[in-house]
Amino acid sequence: MDFMELDLNLTKEDLMLKKNANEFAKKVMRPIARQLDEMTPEQVIAKDSPFWTFMKKAYELGYHAILIPEAYGGMDLTSLQQAIIYEELAWGSVGLTIALGVASFPAFGAAMVPEEAMIDEILVPFCENRDATFIGCWGITEPDHGSDTLMPFFPTFSDPNIPSQCTAREDGDYYIMNGQKSAWVSNGTIATHCAMFCQIDASMGHAGGGIFAMPLDLPGVKKGAPLNKIGQRDLNQGEIYFDNVKVPKRFLIAGPEAYEALLEIVLSSTTSLMGIFGTGVARAAFEEALAYAKTRVQGGKRLVDYPTIQTKLFHMQRQVETSRLISRAAFVYNTNTSTPAEEYSIMAKVHGTQAAFDVANEAIQIFGGNGLTKEYLIEKLFRDARAMLIEDGSNDTLAIAAGHKIVENYPRKD
Ligand SMILES: Cc1cc2nc3c(=O)[nH]c(=O)nc-3n(C[C@H](O)[C@H](O)[C@H](O)COP(=O)(O)OP(=O)(O)OC[C@H]3O[C@@H](n4cnc5c(N)ncnc54)[C@H](O)[C@@H]3O)c2cc1C
Repeated sequence: MDFMELDLNLTKEDLMLKKNANEFAKKVMRPIARQLDEMTPEQVIAKDSPFWTFMKKAYELGYHAILIPEAYGGMDLTSLQQAIIYEELAWGSVGLTIALGVASFPAFGAAMVPEEAMIDEILVPFCENRDATFIGCWGITEPDHGSDTLMPFFPTFSDPNIPSQCTAREDGDYYIMNGQKSAWVSNGTIATHCAMFCQIDASMGHAGGGIFAMPLDLPGVKKGAPLNKIGQRDLNQGEIYFDNVKVPKRFLIAGPEAYEALLEIVLSSTTSLMGIFGTGVARAAFEEALAYAKTRVQGGKRLVDYPTIQTKLFHMQRQVETSRLISRAAFVYNTNTSTPAEEYSIMAKVHGTQAAFDVANEAIQIFGGNGLTKEYLIEKLFRDARAMLIEDGSNDTLAIAAGHKIVENYPRKD
């Protein structure tokens, strides 16, 4: 289906990238995601699973390196182009898009401080990888610390009485890592590398963290079982355990002195990306509802011929469009400044993911009973969207963190 693109400044190249991503989403991602949705978490990652067909095709096209600069072999995209492509991929499947996005997380982190070892051992091998054998993940949340870990500059973040469950202690040329990350680590049981966020200086609370881009084949690393959940079932998740793991210092991106500020920069990208993914899911749900309402006849008329249905469709499209506007704007702004306004990324995430959920919910209502059945895509979109309200920070705690920033920092001086 073709829909309006309000941005009149998009170039031919932008539109071509959008079209190509949409084709990949339609022909490869949608069918594979629906197959994976019916499987057990173990089947999803089995050797012969279509999950690997998707990953290999995505890597072949370079979609694993969307966020990485061309200098290291990335796709050489503007922030706006990254946003455009990601919306299309999320339209195809948000779970698979997250799998691909977090796969690049260690390289994304390494690109922030591109030392020689980071370039040679992480960035270049990742970008050159074409058979999905270099897969990253992001380990930040812990069994007892979900929201706690994602609220930089909130008072509790620097409270030394809130201990971390994953620590790294300096020891000569190494850090000795111990503890565990939560069962929610996306790609957790299949990742070869991790963007690892863990505590180095306990006296600073969660603010005393460090960021590592590290391989996961070091002695002492263990993985948990793949997690079973209601939505985004095509996304693998699971714990990672660290038992006296000797991590060479060359894999450290930043220590406690820079941790809180760098985390805020990272979150400014990831939360606004979640808004873009939400836009893709909301649009998918809107399109499903519109197509269905054009064919379903009740009371002798098509559903779309009833004004109440037309009004519903208008409000659904309104949510798609407003999500796109705030998400693109926040992502482009915050990825092009050294002093990000994280509250705008949070606005994007909260608005976009809530839109995904609300539009999918309304779409099910338009489908009637059929919307509840496995026969139609809409029930999957609804389950996928539900997970997004918690993923990458619950919308409630993100709003608390953003409200605190507004009170502390406004009126802004920059
Ligand atoms: C699909 C998915 C993918 C994910 N991927 C990753 C990943 O790749 N890597 C990773 O490390 N983690 C990942 N996560 C974890 C995710 O970041 C956490 O689930 C999220 O931050 C919430 O943490 P929690 O689940 O521990 O809930 P909790 O923090 O325990 O929160 C439970 C409830 O309490 C509320 N609450 C918490 N703190 C406060 C407060 N201070 N004031 C008021 N209310 C509060 C919350 O809003 C929520 O409603 C993922 C999660 C999902 C669902």
